[in-house]
Amino acid sequence: MRIVLVGPPGAGKGTQAAYLAKNLSIPHISTGDLFRANISQGTDLGKQARAYMDAGQLVPDEVTIGMAKDRMAQPDAVNGFLLDGFPRNVGQAEALDVMLKDEGVKLDAVLDLEVPEDEVVKRIAGRRICRSDSAHVFHVTYNPPKSEGVCDACGGELYQRDDDSEETVRTRLEVYHTQTEPIIDYYRAQGLVVTISALGKVADVTARAMEALKSSNEG
Ligand code: AMP
Repeated sequence: MRIVLVGPPGAGKGTQAAYLAKNLSIPHISTGDLFRANISQGTDLGKQARAYMDAGQLVPDEVTIGMAKDRMAQPDAVNGFLLDGFPRNVGQAEALDVMLKDEGVKLDAVLDLEVPEDEVVKRIAGRRICRSDSAHVFHVTYNPPKSEGVCDACGGELYQRDDDSEETVRTRLEVYHTQTEPIIDYYRAQGLVVTISALGKVADVTARAMEALKSSNEG
């Protein structure tokens, strides 16, 4: 399957993407994770992306589209993938359509994770992520690790993302509304959008998502 995951920052895209990709046996492709890996490796691409990310703005399409394309061209993505955080504006969605058309394949679904805005701010402010595996996500109040600052799953160090500060979160939300939300209408016109609530326990949201994807595939 070829799936795009959309939703505001803090909707739990990364967490859900990791579970869904595992259940569906497809790679989880997160452009945010790819940028963060480039930053920690000190690559030119990382240097180009950093200032935009720290400000909560989108990294320019010239940089992002090429990086996403390279990742989707890897052998593990031949039969499908779950895109998390890409596309993030209509230009990227159009570029993705061209890429898929060139390969003679299509998207199967666009999964839209819905969360009320006040919940988003609470989720992000307390979010802590494992340095060893970004799929290991905790929350200081809602899902605290057993030992402060240490990942329950692998013992990795937990940290707060630089762009999870309150000010940057506001910018990211505004960017989401103005630039990313329009892709939902873009994909709705193609009949691809399935919307689910991202509230509740992680496992319940995953089950809801699997059910929605199954129904959309049958329909
Ligand atoms: P994420 O991990 O998906 O929340 O992404 C973190 C940051 O990486 C975003 O706020 C952007 O600065 C950048 N980023 C990730 N994906 C994209 C994309 N598709 N287009 C532009 N910027 C992106």
